[in-house]
Amino acid sequence: MLRSTSQSTTGPTPPGCTTDSLAAAITAFRQTLTAGQVLTGEAAGADHTDPYAFTEDGFLPSAVVGPTSVEEVQDVVRIAGEHRVPLWTVSTGRNLGYGGAAPRVSGSVVVDLQRMNRVLEVNTECGYALVEPGVRFSDLYEHLRSNDYPLLMSVPDLGLGSLIGNTLERGFGYTPYGDHSTIQCGMEIVLADGDLVRTGMGAMDGNSAWSLYKGGFGPGHDSLMYQSNFGIVTKMGIWLMPQPEHVTVCMAKARDESDLAALVDTLRPLLIEGTIQSNAVVGNTLAVASMITDRRTWYDGAGAMPEEAIASICHALGLGRWNARFAVYGSKELVEARLTRVRSRFKGIRGLEFVTTEYAGDATADQVHPADRAQMGIPSTDLIRMAGWRGGTPAHTDFSLVCPPTGRDAVAQMQLIRKRVKGYGFDYAGGFTVNPRHAIALALVSFDRDSDDERAKVARMFPELISDAATAGYAPYRSHLAFMDTIADQYGFNDHANRRLNQRLKDALDPSGILSPGKQGIWPPLMR
Ligand code: ADP
Repeated sequence: MLRSTSQSTTGPTPPGCTTDSLAAAITAFRQTLTAGQVLTGEAAGADHTDPYAFTEDGFLPSAVVGPTSVEEVQDVVRIAGEHRVPLWTVSTGRNLGYGGAAPRVSGSVVVDLQRMNRVLEVNTECGYALVEPGVRFSDLYEHLRSNDYPLLMSVPDLGLGSLIGNTLERGFGYTPYGDHSTIQCGMEIVLADGDLVRTGMGAMDGNSAWSLYKGGFGPGHDSLMYQSNFGIVTKMGIWLMPQPEHVTVCMAKARDESDLAALVDTLRPLLIEGTIQSNAVVGNTLAVASMITDRRTWYDGAGAMPEEAIASICHALGLGRWNARFAVYGSKELVEARLTRVRSRFKGIRGLEFVTTEYAGDATADQVHPADRAQMGIPSTDLIRMAGWRGGTPAHTDFSLVCPPTGRDAVAQMQLIRKRVKGYGFDYAGGFTVNPRHAIALALVSFDRDSDDERAKVARMFPELISDAATAGYAPYRSHLAFMDTIADQYGFNDHANRRLNQRLKDALDPSGILSPGKQGIWPPLMR
């Protein structure tokens, strides 16, 4: 929460900036923004450092500003440009596991957009919403329900974050509209010099297809804003699914550790042909268990949990060694037809248990099992429980590797992640989201934030994981602040032509290098 403060002490001074210029910028922010929207000193650090920090790097802000309008965002970038003070933009700063609201470069001023939190439009005829950065998934959900709009939204694992922050990080949910970058349409952007741009059809005054047609006339710019530091997004269109009559959530529980390949190879054709409309989340026993129980109930020893303990969890909680959750949507007839085809395909996996739960498309949170809420587009905070798996002060960081959606790739990725994670004495609580044309291996590594030993292990393990993955031809799609450069290094085709292109764009759009320096390994000249 942004709180009002009158503190004047600043935190670290960013590179390329003097204490005086930072102080002058902070004074100018205070004079320009409404009272209480500029935090410094301890108040700045309170909610804008990494809650799950594991390195000594700090990633500390010097100040936090909370603009309430597009004009104030423009003022902020102009002041920052004048004083050469780097900014770091967050929508609600809930990028948990990847650095939260903390800036890549210590001393940056965090631009926290949570006060710009209006749902500007909901269109039920064509199914879309236009939102500001501070609109959280839980806010849009409440908005849709309280107005009885017959629309189903997609939510990621944690409903506390914003639609814009999650979408820009290429986050995802679990309904047929779960790939958020593909359902995003049209943006409003403040550039580093304060200019205001609308993309796609929004570039034309009075055009009503801004949130409907991704094109426009000429090059598209929306994707330039993804995981980038080329602008600050102040509005975004997002498509919403018409509420289906019925939803059946399916859980396919595979008995053997070796069933992973068969599970993925069974899912892929069903996903590509569209019989299964949502992605499928395939979690191993510990990934599912860590959302409903804690480790010491089953095993309290050091090192990775032994096989016998995992087997007893499987048995006691009725889980598979691999558990695939997905849903089918539509009229009763369509859902039935989809299910018939899905069931017949899964018969090919020996010993697999197939469980289904039926819901009305307009089921409310209390009518839906907590584990099925994501497939029903209902925000929840259950995943946060995983961070407490190991006990101590809960913290986690995530490793997210992209691969083709094939059994062979899934097995290769699982083996390389499991080997490192277990080697460092952590439990492998992992799995995949399987989509029609890609899968993402996810390993959520939970650790005790108060343990020096565990934090040090996490810091050492991740670069090794990135290197193992690169050797096998894989790379993460998203990263904690600490590893952005290391991961950007892996995208090295033609002597890092991708980096050179990003730098040319950066230099053209933000010559003073004030917007989120270092984001995804994209640095301004001064810090290169
Ligand atoms: P969440 O929505 O989960 O709270 P954040 O607000 O932490 O996510 O945003 C995640 C990342 O996305 C930020 O670290 C930043 O790099 C980028 N980002 C977030 N909001 C914006 C925005 N409005 N404009 C540009 N980049 C943004």
